[in-house]
Amino acid sequence: MSKIMSVNAGSSSLKFQLLEMTKSKEEVITEGQFEKIGLPDPNFKIKFNGKKEEHVVPQVKDHADAVAILLDALVSMKIVKDLKEIKGVGHRVLHCGEKYNDSVIMDDTSIAVVESVCDLGPLHNPANLIGIRAFMKALPGVVNVGVFDTSFHLTMPDEAYMYAVPYEWYEKYSVRKYGFHGTSHKYISLEAAKMLGKKSEDVRLITCHIGNGASCAAVKYGKVVDTSMGLTPLDGLVMGTRSGTIDPAVIQFICKHENLTVEEVTDILNKKSGFKGFTGNSDARAVREMKEQGNYRADLILRMQEKKICDYIGSYYVYMGGADAIIFTAGIGENSCETRENVCNRISEALGVKIDNELNAKCVRGVGGIISTPDSKIKVLVIPTNEELMIARDVIRVGKVELED
Ligand code: ADP
Repeated sequence: MSKIMSVNAGSSSLKFQLLEMTKSKEEVITEGQFEKIGLPDPNFKIKFNGKKEEHVVPQVKDHADAVAILLDALVSMKIVKDLKEIKGVGHRVLHCGEKYNDSVIMDDTSIAVVESVCDLGPLHNPANLIGIRAFMKALPGVVNVGVFDTSFHLTMPDEAYMYAVPYEWYEKYSVRKYGFHGTSHKYISLEAAKMLGKKSEDVRLITCHIGNGASCAAVKYGKVVDTSMGLTPLDGLVMGTRSGTIDPAVIQFICKHENLTVEEVTDILNKKSGFKGFTGNSDARAVREMKEQGNYRADLILRMQEKKICDYIGSYYVYMGGADAIIFTAGIGENSCETRENVCNRISEALGVKIDNELNAKCVRGVGGIISTPDSKIKVLVIPTNEELMIARDVIRVGKVELED
């Protein structure tokens, strides 16, 4: 049996999912996470056979320690008989700069590439590398594959990814639009093509990943041609704590008036703006509740997010010369019937999009499906995203893991 580990390592955390993969089956066997690695009071949670177990671990020195504890637990909890059952490990990696438009096997060369672009992902890339090295050491001979958040977007044409700033900024510092959530946009675009009964090379899709972080992408015939996040995830849509696009001159203006540094204002734009900046709460459910109780700012910020989603849909529709489907995913996209309904109603007149309210109401908590009416000019789909599964599939494809029937 081939088991594939899907890993997301943060600076003090490590999330994992172990999947059983055969030619006909893709099943999660166990999942969990370590938190506070290298800090006091670390914890390790693992879910197996429907039960969540919390393990008290007196000390988790570093990521290598976490991986050792995890592999021990897999054997002692009889989740695997032998660690040899793990045929590959896939790692979520934030950034690969302009280097890889697909996932790659992690070796000295690709590790050096990820290292070389650490300034583009200073919080994530170093942590991702620690996770990769820890698994390489703990499971020698097992293939490790890096799956980049930015890769899927690398097919964008120059006119979509360049900023109209001094050209030297691009040459010297690689300043350009990269886009993020690529693994999710890729997964839902492939699933959408399947749902439409077509090949991904034959459809034009607008993918909307609306979670705490949020981004849209224009996926034309299997390739991203534009996306809403930029050099960093701050750009684009209104988000839980991020402002999304603003006039960059606001930064200097606020620095002057509030006597803050550029770093401090950028931090506010990342962590204290969006839903949080208007209502004090970054959680869409709480904001929606405040709106229902008549809170003006909650109502306003929700309308602003919906408007912005429509702006991207309209722009991508025109840029791609049409669209076969609009897809919603992530926390809000998968669960908020109101956001989907409001967005679709706003674009209805211009684009002929119509949704069926009953179908829309059914698509919550992991249930996906088509929510548009048969006469809608563009189909509207809800597809629960699954980045871990996309990572495991990439490990098999790129790492050439042989699967049993
Ligand atoms: P991320 O992975 O970016 O942290 P998620 O994709 O998990 O975020 O999305 C989290 C967001 O989804 C939160 O704002 C949460 O309120 C929202 N969300 C989850 N369930 C619902 C729901 N039933 N209705 C509206 N929003 C929801």
